[in-house]
Amino acid sequence: MTLFGRRGQAATETARDFLQRNEVPLRWVDLDRDPLAAFLSDEQMETAIQPMALFADGSLLEAPENYAEPMPGRLDPARSSDYLASAVWRTELATRAGLPTRPRHDDYDLIVLGAGPAGLTAAVYAASEGQRTLIVEFHAPGGQAGTSSRIENYLGFPDGVSGAELAESAYRQAQRLGAEFLIGVLLVHARPQADGSVEVEFSSGSAIRARSGVIATGVAYRRLDFDIDQLIGRGVRYGSPSGEALRFADRRVAVIGGANSAGQAALHLARHAAQVTLLVRGDSLDRGMSRYLVDRIERHDRIAVRTRTEAVGADGRDRLESLAIEGPEGEQTLPTDALFVLIGAEPLTAGVEDWLRRDDRGYFMTGPDLLQSSDRSWWPLERDPLFLESSQPGLFVAGDVRHGSIKRVASAVGEGAMAASLVHSYLAALDRNSP
Ligand SMILES: Cc1cc2nc3c(=O)[nH]c(=O)nc-3n(C[C@H](O)[C@H](O)[C@H](O)COP(=O)(O)OP(=O)(O)OC[C@H]3O[C@@H](n4cnc5c(N)ncnc54)[C@H](O)[C@@H]3O)c2cc1C
Repeated sequence: MTLFGRRGQAATETARDFLQRNEVPLRWVDLDRDPLAAFLSDEQMETAIQPMALFADGSLLEAPENYAEPMPGRLDPARSSDYLASAVWRTELATRAGLPTRPRHDDYDLIVLGAGPAGLTAAVYAASEGQRTLIVEFHAPGGQAGTSSRIENYLGFPDGVSGAELAESAYRQAQRLGAEFLIGVLLVHARPQADGSVEVEFSSGSAIRARSGVIATGVAYRRLDFDIDQLIGRGVRYGSPSGEALRFADRRVAVIGGANSAGQAALHLARHAAQVTLLVRGDSLDRGMSRYLVDRIERHDRIAVRTRTEAVGADGRDRLESLAIEGPEGEQTLPTDALFVLIGAEPLTAGVEDWLRRDDRGYFMTGPDLLQSSDRSWWPLERDPLFLESSQPGLFVAGDVRHGSIKRVASAVGEGAMAASLVHSYLAALDRNSP
């Protein structure tokens, strides 16, 4: 297929990333640079809503008029019809590109939502135990981990592993063991039924019923808006450095962010790093950080705080070497060996957020955390919720989207495996108790 569009347009960038990450053979025509653009009529250039996909059978697919990224962290209720149109467009793009978008059955033992490390692991274990498993992914198998150029700390890979490689092997493994995938498909609506199953509708227009579910939809990190993605995993990391301070002994490290997570990261790294620079857009740390952290940071002789300062560029051949920063003294170069970006993350809960209990930041509550509330009227059973079980019996949560999760590949994999085992026990108990 051929994709026509312009760089920088949200729908174009998303479509390219979606097709490339799913390894769809693609000819990309940049309307501002590619000589092929000259073959389009003036009318096509003017009226087509870009991006426009041209398929081998001659058919065209245009993006919706008001494209809205359907999986932002926080949904704007006023744009719900734009989200839906954009999700349906992506699903149509996936269907015509030959990706699986329609379920083969009406009923499943388990639906897994999200094919990041947590969802893929849950699908591998559940399918290998013989459960009819459907796994639904809106973007591409691998999730956030699939976007990392090198994961250094995942067990069993002494030289690191690329996120794409890890995603591809896990995807093949889950398929080989019998899990069925839908790709480019968004869950648009889910409702629990009286018999304890869940009815789910997808952006492909199809619907299924599942006896149990694992929600593993992850989080969306707010991203930097300059060219830095090629250095992710090569010195640049979104998220916290928990437990890894020693790796940065005698290194120059920068942390971007002004909230508690950034403050904790800076203090943690400063235990061993030669120098930690905290880059904060606001004019003081007090605006977003707790006082006790501010005090410790200000007293620390290896942490430098640069307020009213933003990173605007990054440089490095194989690894990050320096950042371009802009602040009160103008633009400067900051030699940097490692960068942690902590400018906010939102849990991805679209489609199920209105009926499952969440914490005040939107993460799903599970198991013992749910029991901290004295009001139990929302829980219909005599037994307590199982570990990783949400406020809906039979619906489990694994990975980054869960309240209290540790945002790491290994933790997501562990929770995915545990969720599959809990699903197994839950379904076995249902079968035992059914007449
Ligand atoms: C750039 C980067 C580098 C990282 N490097 C490391 C590292 O080196 N080591 C490490 O341990 N951790 C690293 N992490 C963190 C790690 O990748 C995450 O903790 C891990 O991927 C979380 O797995 P998950 O399955 O919970 O969620 P995710 O990986 O976020 O996967 C969730 C999936 O669900 C899909 N989804 C969401 N909503 C829906 C919906 N409604 N319908 C269908 N699909 C949906 C998403 O498209 C996504 O693919 C990194 C993260 C990033 C962003």
